Amino acid sequence: MSLAYIGLGSNLSDPQAQIVAALTKLRSLTNCSVEAVSSLYFSRPMGPQDQPDYMNAVIALCTELTPIELLNQLQSIENKAGRVRKDNRWGARVLDLDILLFDNLVMNTERLIVPHYGLKLREFVLLPLAEIAPNLNLPDGDNVLGLANQIEKNGLKIHSQLS
Ligand code: ATP
Ligand code: CA
Ligand code: CA
Repeated sequence: MSLAYIGLGSNLSDPQAQIVAALTKLRSLTNCSVEAVSSLYFSRPMGPQDQPDYMNAVIALCTELTPIELLNQLQSIENKAGRVRKDNRWGARVLDLDILLFDNLVMNTERLIVPHYGLKLREFVLLPLAEIAPNLNLPDGDNVLGLANQIEKNGLKIHSQLS
């Protein structure tokens, strides 16, 4: 069994409903169980600013899948939600599911970089992660709550609880 942390994001087609629906699908993945769920947060877009604000959350998932099998499952959920991959980076999307951490694994392959390369730079990832795993240390030893306390909040705010 491994413990993975997954970041959820959406800014199209009723983002709150997208995140709630994704959570339901994550709960029903075989050989997986959702161990913790953060609040739902409002965040400002990264990159192109001519797009709606985002909603984000982070979950802890206990899984028997390998990292690549998990990525395949996450991308399948994204695709079923109607995600269309476009050329513009960080453009609007109905659903984004990123693997933030996978146990203490460090890997860097064409399809998968773990820990997620943006983890330490993104308030909308660090704050929800710190909410559910404040004592967690990254593979490089950095503490999640310490990172979350230091990052610029960029207007991030809690919207509501997710159950
Ligand atoms: P960012 O990666 O900066 O958050 P994004 O989420 O919009 O941007 P996507 O278009 O969703 O990027 O993903 C591009 C590719 O990133 C995916 O096809 C996947 O192979 C790769 N990838 C690498 N590492 C990860 C990871 N830790 N979690 C999810 N996808 C990853
Ligand atoms: Ca992402
Ligand atoms: Ca992604």
